[in-house]
Amino acid sequence: MYKIVLVDLVSQYKRIEQEINQAILGVLNHGRFINGPEVSQFSENLARYLDVNYVVPVANGTEAILVALKGLGIQPGDEVIVPAFTYIATAEVIAFLGAIPVLVDVDLDSFNIDVGQIESVITSKTKAIIPVHLYGQAANMQQIMEIARKYNLAVIEDNAQSLGAEYIFSDGHRQRTGTIGDIGTTSFFPTKNLGGYGDGGAIFTNNEDLYVKMRMIANHGQNKKYYHKYVGLNSRLDTIQAAILNVKLKYIDEYISKRQQAAKMYNERLADIEHISIPIVLNDRTHVFHQYTITLKSDNRDALKQYLADRGIPTQIYYPLPIHKQEAYQQIAKTPVSLENSEYLSHHVLSLPMHTELTEEIIDYITEAIRSFFKK
Ligand SMILES: *Cc1c(COP(=O)(O)O)cnc(C)c1O
Repeated sequence: MYKIVLVDLVSQYKRIEQEINQAILGVLNHGRFINGPEVSQFSENLARYLDVNYVVPVANGTEAILVALKGLGIQPGDEVIVPAFTYIATAEVIAFLGAIPVLVDVDLDSFNIDVGQIESVITSKTKAIIPVHLYGQAANMQQIMEIARKYNLAVIEDNAQSLGAEYIFSDGHRQRTGTIGDIGTTSFFPTKNLGGYGDGGAIFTNNEDLYVKMRMIANHGQNKKYYHKYVGLNSRLDTIQAAILNVKLKYIDEYISKRQQAAKMYNERLADIEHISIPIVLNDRTHVFHQYTITLKSDNRDALKQYLADRGIPTQIYYPLPIHKQEAYQQIAKTPVSLENSEYLSHHVLSLPMHTELTEEIIDYITEAIRSFFKK
């Protein structure tokens, strides 16, 4: 029988094996492993796909946010607003710069930043907001942009989980996530919706000055070799990764649609189980299902996880501890508002296998196991 995995990267590779192998061999044969021609080709292709003016390719999604914060001139002591329920990278780079992550809660239905709390945590030190488009669905960008303009704050969208998703404004205008704020960032970690075969990341912006500055920061702050205008770092996307991503970018819409089909199959089979909530797609956003995450209504999430594991079904908890409960952030993060939804979700969410190779048969097996758990 097919071994069920959280993410099946090998079967996905097998479908495009020849194209990928050729792309990698192309790099091996020209030998320009750093800043080879595939890197700028990929940046241009990605900019076209997202409909954004500029893309800065970087080494990973964490440094993408770090370079974005540096590009905005964030200083030690500055405050940056982030959701408490996110992957650590979002808050980590703020703290790494000596700035202060100011945590706000998330909504239980969208898992995204509670925009109703943002204004109440703004102080004279607040410089930016980093909404995270969690699990594949946009945060409420219309209201976030309105608040940011009112208080003159920058917006960095952490789009590591939602590349290809869209947000639909009240006037009907649609925009890809990551291109709405001042800066957007993403990750090409292998399991992300557009994943390389190693680490990778990118930054997007429509602002030319920010683009020029961030591109320099990611390359030792230099605009000319050995002449350093800014304090920077070495954060580059490898040519081999760019060559792989160039191939995979052609398939991103197909990959997204396979994830959406899998989500639809899960929904059809899980919607009537009263002990869980299935993911909600809000009507002003599309969902690209980086994760398919259910929320349990009772306190037996860990028992369900074990029950499924015993039946060969891997699941994952994104994330078991919100930022303010992490040891390293006890003294660093500011927590001016209640974070009860983040705490609740950390105990009640469970992400099911989600990737481009899921079949009806696998989803039947997984959903039947969930159903039988609640019938016990
Ligand atoms: C994966 C991820 C990152 C970091 O990306 P890396 O490439 O692993 O550094 C940042 N934010 C979120 C929300 C992520 O899911």
